[in-house]
Parts: sequence; C-alpha cells; structure tokens
Amino acid sequence: MRPEVLHPSTLSDALAALAAYGEEARPLAGGTALVLLLHHRLIAPRVLICLEEVRELRGFQFAEEGIRIGAMVRLQELARFPQIRERLPALALACREVGNIRIRNQATLGGNLAEADYASDPPIALMALEAILEVHGPNGPREIPISEFFRGPYTTALEPGELITAVRTPFPPPGSRMTYLKFRTRSAEDRPCLGVAALVAFEDGICRELRIAVGAACETPQRRPEVERLAIGRPLTEVVIRAIAQGYADQIETLNDLRGSAAYRKRMIEVHVRRALEEVRDGHRSFSAGAGC
Ligand SMILES: Cc1cc2nc3c(=O)[nH]c(=O)nc-3n(C[C@H](O)[C@H](O)[C@H](O)COP(=O)(O)OP(=O)(O)OC[C@H]3O[C@@H](n4cnc5c(N)ncnc54)[C@H](O)[C@@H]3O)c2cc1C
Repeated sequence: MRPEVLHPSTLSDALAALAAYGEEARPLAGGTALVLLLHHRLIAPRVLICLEEVRELRGFQFAEEGIRIGAMVRLQELARFPQIRERLPALALACREVGNIRIRNQATLGGNLAEADYASDPPIALMALEAILEVHGPNGPREIPISEFFRGPYTTALEPGELITAVRTPFPPPGSRMTYLKFRTRSAEDRPCLGVAALVAFEDGICRELRIAVGAACETPQRRPEVERLAIGRPLTEVVIRAIAQGYADQIETLNDLRGSAAYRKRMIEVHVRRALEEVRDGHRSFSAGAGC
C-alpha cells in the first residue's frame, strides 16, 4: 500500500501529525535515504510527513556568535552559500564532498543528521565546529550538542515524535583555520571510508585551540580532547603533528566494511590527521575562517 503524504506548512502542524500517527508516520525531507528504504520495502509507513513546506525549517539566520541553519537547507546550498564558505569553510567542504550534485541538490542537513549513517561527511565537520542541534517534539523544544547526538550507526538521541528543526554552529575563534579531508576507496562519488575535520587557532605561531573530528571509519564521529591538548601552547611542529596523528590512530576504535578493514582505517587515520594538520598549519588551501574556500 502506498503511504499517504501530508504537507504541513507549520512546525506545529508537522509535530501534531507526527504525534497523531506515531510509529506509522515518517518525516520526509529530501527523500534521498528514505525513498530507497521505501523502494526496497525495508520500511512501510502509513503516512509520510513532507517537511518541504514547513517554513520554520528553512533558511539561514546570522548572529554575532554564529549561524543557525534550518533543517531543510540543502547540502548544495551549504556548499555554496558565501557566508558558510567564508565563516565555516570545513562545513562547506564537507557538504561539497557528498555524493554528487543530484544528491546534494536534494539532500537536507536535517535528513543527513537524522539518518545517522556512519559513512557521512557533514556530521564530522559539525563535530569539529561544536554544533548544537535544535529539536522540537511532544515535550517542547530542546538542544542536543552534536557530540551527544549520535548513539551508534543509524541511532540518534531523537525521541519518538521529535524533529530536528535547525543546527546552530558557533563561529570559531578569530584567526582559526579549518579543513575537511574525505578519503574514498571505491569511486569518486562514494561515501567516505574516512573523514577528518581539523580546526586550529594560532596566536603568534602558538596553537591556542585545536579540534580534530574523525568519522566514517568508526561508528560515530569522534574527537579525542586529550590528544588535541598535545598541541596547546606549542607550535604545530612535525613532532607534535605526528604525535597527534598517532594518538588518533591508536585511540579510535575503527570498523570493518566494504570500504576498508579496521586495520587499514587506523593507518589512514594516521595519514589523514597528519595531512589535515599540515594543511591548516601551512594554509595550503585558503581555509581561514574569514577567507573563503
Ligand atoms: C547515491 C548516494 C550517495 C551518497 N553519498 C553520500 C556521501 O558521500 N556523503 C554523505 O554524507 N552522504 C551521502 N549520501 C547520503 C545523503 O547525504 C543522505 O541520504 C541525505 O543527506 C539524507 O537527507 P534527506 O533530506 O534526503 O533525508 P530523507 O531521505 O528525507 O530522510 C532521512 C531520514 O531522516 C528522517 N528525517 C528527515 N528530516 C528529518 C528531520 N528534520 N528531523 C527528524 N528526522 C528527519 C527521515 O524520516 C528519514 O528517516 C548519499 C546518498 C546517496 C543516495
């Protein structure tokens, strides 16, 4: 039986529909993940709640401290939006790396996060940017730091009846540089075998803040603050960079799948964390927050 498709135009109507149909309903955003599940009959909801016309989920809002991105913003918009490229280049880069142009034109940020496929790009950049998810549900609004959102592959902190409404991303410290590296093993359009996001803030050549997020090689995107701290108060020398790359490779529990074995991924973490740190230190590509990409 084909699901009925509802088209609420407000957040409260969308939430009311979710509450009314409970487990028989699924939110529909860009459909790039959901339609495949329907097509292969892996799910059979009675109702799809299309979020396309829900105005509260659209667009960008700018404040002094950061950007608020509506859940229905398309990944291609994020990859191209001038202020995202300028202020949050790691996020623009990660979105630009997703699949192909047809997928990016359709897939939304909220759908990407809610799907929680471990082999995804944007969540890794958002981990390094310390993003906060805004969520609304039957018990009202709440906020979930991205570090607490992913509970495992395809599993999130969302409760039944909750929708992601927006993602808030604070601007990084002034003078920060950041990048996102995607490593693929199968095709130019494939999901990542590994993704690494790095953000560094220097003062007079000394590292004041370092954030590194690694994902797709493990069940959820992850940071290792105790390893990041190896750089604080020091210049990013080769010795420091190699110690951090080794620390990440040692401490991340990697997984096996068709894109690579756990042992191979550990080696690739070492290589790509090192490359990402060299890139932000040397500014090979112009990814200073404020410079664009
Ligand atoms: C060929 C192909 C290649 C791809 N390559 C990559 C890649 O390289 N990197 C990468 O990161 N991803 C990749 N993807 C995955 C793609 O990014 C996701 O399918 C997409 O982001 C999901 O967003 P959507 O808007 O289409 O979500 P939908 O398919 O509409 O929904 C996905 C899930 O999220 C739920 N949902 C949607 N919106 C919300 C919301 N606001 N609140 C709560 N739940 C919600 C839906 O009910 C559903 O369960 C690829 C997908 C395809 C098909």
